[in-house]
Amino acid sequence: MKTKIEELQGELENSMRECSGLTQELEDLKKIHEACVKERNELRAKLSAKKLQSTSLRLEVDQLLAELAATKEVVVNRLKDLGVRIREGRYYIYSPNHPHPNALGKYVLRYRLVVDKNLGRFLHPSEQVHHINGNPTDDRIENLQVMSRSEHARLHCELRNAAKRLPASKQKGQ
Ligand SMILES: [Zn+2]
Repeated sequence: MKTKIEELQGELENSMRECSGLTQELEDLKKIHEACVKERNELRAKLSAKKLQSTSLRLEVDQLLAELAATKEVVVNRLKDLGVRIREGRYYIYSPNHPHPNALGKYVLRYRLVVDKNLGRFLHPSEQVHHINGNPTDDRIENLQVMSRSEHARLHCELRNAAKRLPASKQKGQ
């Protein structure tokens, strides 16, 4: 007979397998997206340099922008197929077997899955994850730190105060 622990470990392994399978595809999609953004910015620079005087250039740019929009749609749909959602820059992974899904239903924040895997157990909902470099999309394990809700709140309070002290011009009001 399976114990509760064995059941949970099985679910964790399933979640992790799904998650690591997604990682490479996500990286590829991210590269496509970055290339799209770069191309768009180059086009914008080109346009402003030429002040849109050339009709043929304008048409060329319109066509490229349409292609970029189509590519972006492909990327977003592919992500949906993969069970990935992005809200406010944070990645959520479809994890139907996870014991602590978030408000989206059967989705779990990717950085929580990364920590689950590293710890070999599911994070308790009361445990929070801090992004050390301040970038909430950087879900590399070395950028993640587990802490309690109160520790996390205190840390962010300290970080805010430190940020306030930095610019000399803002010292007067605080
Ligand atoms: Zn934090």
